[in-house]
Formats: sequence, C-alpha cells, structure tokens
Amino acid sequence: MSLETNFICSTASAIHAAIITHKPEIEPLDQAIGDGDHYINILRGTEVAAGMTDELASLPPDEALNKIAMRLLSTIGGAAGPLFASFFMGMAKIVKHNGANTTLDIAAAFAGGVQELIKRGKGKIGEKTMLDVLIPVAHTFVLSAIENKSTENICADIKAAADKGLASTRDLIATKGRAAGLGERAIGHLDAGAKSCQVMINETCDLILKSSN
Ligand code: ADP
Ligand code: MG
Repeated sequence: MSLETNFICSTASAIHAAIITHKPEIEPLDQAIGDGDHYINILRGTEVAAGMTDELASLPPDEALNKIAMRLLSTIGGAAGPLFASFFMGMAKIVKHNGANTTLDIAAAFAGGVQELIKRGKGKIGEKTMLDVLIPVAHTFVLSAIENKSTENICADIKAAADKGLASTRDLIATKGRAAGLGERAIGHLDAGAKSCQVMINETCDLILKSSN
C-alpha cells in the first residue's frame, strides 16, 4: 500500500457521503450528552475536504494533508475542528519525513496524526472521546502492518478495533469535552466523536479493500 493524493481525495468524498448516510446514528449522540452540533460540524468538515479535489490534485500527499488541516481549522467549529486539523497536521509531518510508500509508513503516519490530536486535546484513552476509537485503531494498524498481514486482514483488524473502541464509550463517564459535566448521566450513551470516527475509518477501509481488488 502507498498513499497517493488522488486516494486522499477519493477518501474525502467517500467519507463525506458516509457521514450523510450515517446521520441517523451520529446526530442523536451529541444531542443526548453534548450540545448537539457534532453532526453539523463533521458534515461541514467532510464537505469542505471533499470539495478540495481540484486544488489538491497536483500536490504531494504531505502538502495535500497539510492543506486539508488548515482548511478544517478555519471551517469546522467546536472542539472537533482543531482536533481533526491536528490529526492531519501530524499525519502530514510523518509523511513528509518518512514518505508513505509502504503499509507500515501509512500506519506510522496515522499513528502520528493520533499523537498530534492527543497533544492538542490533552486527552487519553478512557475519557469517552474519539480517542477511544483512534488510539486502539492506531495500535492495531501499526501492529498488523509490522506483522505483514494482508490488506484484507489489516482492514478487518482495524474495523474490529474501531467497533470495540466505539462500544467501550457507552459505559464510560466523560472527563473531556462537553459531556464532562454530566457525570454518571453520560453512561449508557455512545460518544458522538467516537461514532463519527468509526464511520470514517470503516469507509476508508472499504475504499482500500475496493481499490486493492
Ligand atoms: P464541541 O464539543 O465543541 O461541541 P463537537 O460536538 O463537534 O464539538 O465534538 C465533540 C466530540 O469531540 C466529542 O464527542 C469527543 O469525541 C471529542 N472531544 C472533545 N474533547 C476532546 C479532547 N480533548 N480530546 C479528544 N476528543 C475530544
Ligand atoms: Mg458538540
């Protein structure tokens, strides 16, 4: 696997469509334990990224990722904007440094993106946020790549890690973000950011599987 700018662009479009498809599952979550804007924030962000195809086309992948980060920073509101922007900046940094010519390079870039997001939000696992999906997915991606698994198996491992991480947020108390004030009342609800990340990761895996067949 290698990361090309045209793959980044087609992923952005596919993710935008997937967010719309999954609106009925995503939207109620931030309404239940947040301020209800997460679906709109993520919809706007993915729409903006999907609309960048023409301006990204001639750029190398690291510059394309950086440009997406800058645009997200100025267009998505809420906590999610700077967090997703940090993810893309972190990913761009690793791609610029290491290239993205192997599956392990791409896994390392994803992990670098998650690391930057962790730094920006001062978060960790177990706080009922998107990190409960992103951290296990990053670990799984790197380990499966090191083990030289097939693309099919790597995608299956990643999807399973995302599903498990999402499910784990149901019984957690939030200590970050707007749900943090709710204490035990947040128990029983999935986290909105974790759900949108699971949707985006699933969609990306499906696209990788389609393009590798
Ligand atoms: P806001 O919280 O400003 O209304 P959104 O509703 O768009 O922004 O995003 C909320 C999501 O952001 C939460 O569901 C959670 O997953 C994630 N989140 C909030 N704070 C953090 C943080 N410090 N680190 C990681 N993720 C966070
Ligand atoms: Mg919100």
